[in-house]
Amino acid sequence: MPGLIGIIHHPDFLKHDTNFPRPHFESFETPERLATVYTYLTQKEIFTAPDVDSILAKPIKEKDLYKIHAPFLVDSVKSLSKVGEGEIGAHSYASHDAFDVAKLAVGGAILACEEVLKGNVDQSFALIRPPGHHSGYSKADGLCIFNNCAAAVLNLKRKKKLDRTLIIDLDSHYGDGIAEFFYSDSSVMYISIHEYFNESDKGGIFEIGFGEGEGYNVNIPLPYFTLNRTYLKSFEKIIPPLAREFNPELVIIAMGFDTHYADPIGNLRLTSSVYATITQQLKKLAEEICEGKLVFVLEGGYNLLGLPKFVEMVIQALLDYKIEFFDGIPIEEINTDRDAIKRVNMLRGVLSKYWKWF
Ligand SMILES: [Zn+2]
Repeated sequence: MPGLIGIIHHPDFLKHDTNFPRPHFESFETPERLATVYTYLTQKEIFTAPDVDSILAKPIKEKDLYKIHAPFLVDSVKSLSKVGEGEIGAHSYASHDAFDVAKLAVGGAILACEEVLKGNVDQSFALIRPPGHHSGYSKADGLCIFNNCAAAVLNLKRKKKLDRTLIIDLDSHYGDGIAEFFYSDSSVMYISIHEYFNESDKGGIFEIGFGEGEGYNVNIPLPYFTLNRTYLKSFEKIIPPLAREFNPELVIIAMGFDTHYADPIGNLRLTSSVYATITQQLKKLAEEICEGKLVFVLEGGYNLLGLPKFVEMVIQALLDYKIEFFDGIPIEEINTDRDAIKRVNMLRGVLSKYWKWF
């Protein structure tokens, strides 16, 4: 059923600019990412479409931020922003606007969840930056400053508005920050499907959670260069059955588009049709288990030509519109299938200790 979609945005997201020249890794997380998305969605009249509610993000209050992240991290970001430069964490840098924009990103993710939980909109998409999924309690990392998805869940849990949340991370990289926040927490299930080179990487199948949270941290590690069919097969074998059994009140998607084959820093090889297919499946799943309460929060995605269209495809899929494909038919499968399915089957074995479906 098509419903009302909330799109959370704000022109101030374009202010945080660390001015790294290409090809520095840090240069990919730029204001242009959202500038191109906002311009494109405006030109396509999506913000003003009848089924869309255009919502301005609001920053999280500073005192609430201190309840989520270590004072050390919050204070460091604040003071480096006053200076206007400096290393906040590994591959995370300050600008004069870093603190304000990072607070706005956290506030945007919270608002996206609140609007859905209140029933003001059916689903929402927080078009925010900087991304958040690599940042932990006391450290910023990997182009992220504060952890937007984790902060949204913790803020709503504290206000007793949320008991059981499922976070599905579709960014190409493992969201080690989100995993860290909820590693021993059984009220938040975190499932991440991501590129994985070898056992020296974080995000393997045996990182399953700890204590109360054992069985609630689930990693689907895919070989580099995985293509559409294998990706979708791996997704379908693990995520829907686990989501049904966990039975959350809200599903949050940490939505990265750096899984696309043309992304400059991702190592999977998907085409955009996967974003539409997965959004359709997630919407159906959310309707089945939690009255359709589904929130997308933007994480990575660094191809400036593709990003606006990928975002549009997710919105089109949520609205049951006709999807406009633009990057051709899926690329022919190469030899990742066997490795991926071997890992997925091994993961099902690990999960069978905790979840009866497997
Ligand atoms: Zn990423």
